[in-house]
Amino acid sequence: MQTIIGKEERLNYAAELIRSGEVVAFPTETVYGLGADALNGNAVRKIFEAKGRPADNPLIVHISAPGQVNSVAQNVSELAFKLFQKFSPGPLTLVLKKAPAVPLITTGGLGTVGVRIPRHPLALKLIEACGRPIAAPSANRSGRVSPTEAAHVLEDMDGKIPLILDGGKTEVGIESTVLDLTKEIPVILRPGAITAKMLSEILPKVIDHKGEVIIAEAPGMKYRHYSPTKPCIAALDPESAAGKYDEVLSGGIIPVIIGREDFVLAGKRENHISLGKTVEECMSSLFSALRSAEKKYGYIILQYFSEPEYFSLDNRIKKAAGGEILGRTLQ
Ligand code: AMP
Ligand code: MG
Repeated sequence: MQTIIGKEERLNYAAELIRSGEVVAFPTETVYGLGADALNGNAVRKIFEAKGRPADNPLIVHISAPGQVNSVAQNVSELAFKLFQKFSPGPLTLVLKKAPAVPLITTGGLGTVGVRIPRHPLALKLIEACGRPIAAPSANRSGRVSPTEAAHVLEDMDGKIPLILDGGKTEVGIESTVLDLTKEIPVILRPGAITAKMLSEILPKVIDHKGEVIIAEAPGMKYRHYSPTKPCIAALDPESAAGKYDEVLSGGIIPVIIGREDFVLAGKRENHISLGKTVEECMSSLFSALRSAEKKYGYIILQYFSEPEYFSLDNRIKKAAGGEILGRTLQ
């Protein structure tokens, strides 16, 4: 199969492909998604095949307005609508009781469904144009870093899907916050750009990563996501990063340090990639930095932030580094 990359002028073709049971990659504000008709089991199966994704890892279903939630979920509470009103379109996925129309393959066999309204205009237009909910996980091969540009999608999906809609570089850069509303107390299953603190404006009882509330293990989180193809380690301070850099270099392997601008400058080593100055900039450039680093260097040293507002970013960094962090005693 030939994979083409097209911009907005291909939108109607993309919608046609989805309506006829094919898979199309498209941009969202978090990362690129690999989309198919959420209500068509055969179409959804093609997503799992293209990604090489384990069948028990559920997909997120994308809709374009809160009014459509009843087509994919049932017993939707007032609270869910309030959350949609406040945070959607945006990087928040709500886990709700699944409607019978949603095939089990879409939800990884679960009786619940993750639903989100993305903020990227092309994503919204695509959902509108095909007139059905779109199931879409990130558009990478399973186990690889999530794509934040159309070229990243092509790296992983060339020949496997007919079309990649190119909407430029994604804005948020890490995947959505997943909030389970089927439990008595809402639980954050995956941290993201919408933080527990932001959710607590609507949910008096939502729990943050430090406090009373638990961040439970989401299905799919047991699979090691976000692995760069080169060895990767996290470091808490520029000195530990620089120490590791020198050690790796003396072994004949070319390393790179990736982190916030102040961190990489303090490390004073030749090969470095700055993620930017703010938490938003760092989120938006992490995955793309990992993709270019794994092509150019033999060893990746990533800053681990350990600052409360960087919690979601640290979550991805820990996954990329396989949990190993230099510069502190692990509890
Ligand atoms: P991805 O789109 O590749 O970022 O993966 C979607 C992730 O959302 C899954 O791996 C789960 O962690 C989470 N998710 C989606 N649907 C559900 C659900 N019904 N229940 C719990 N978690 C879900
Ligand atoms: Mg993913």
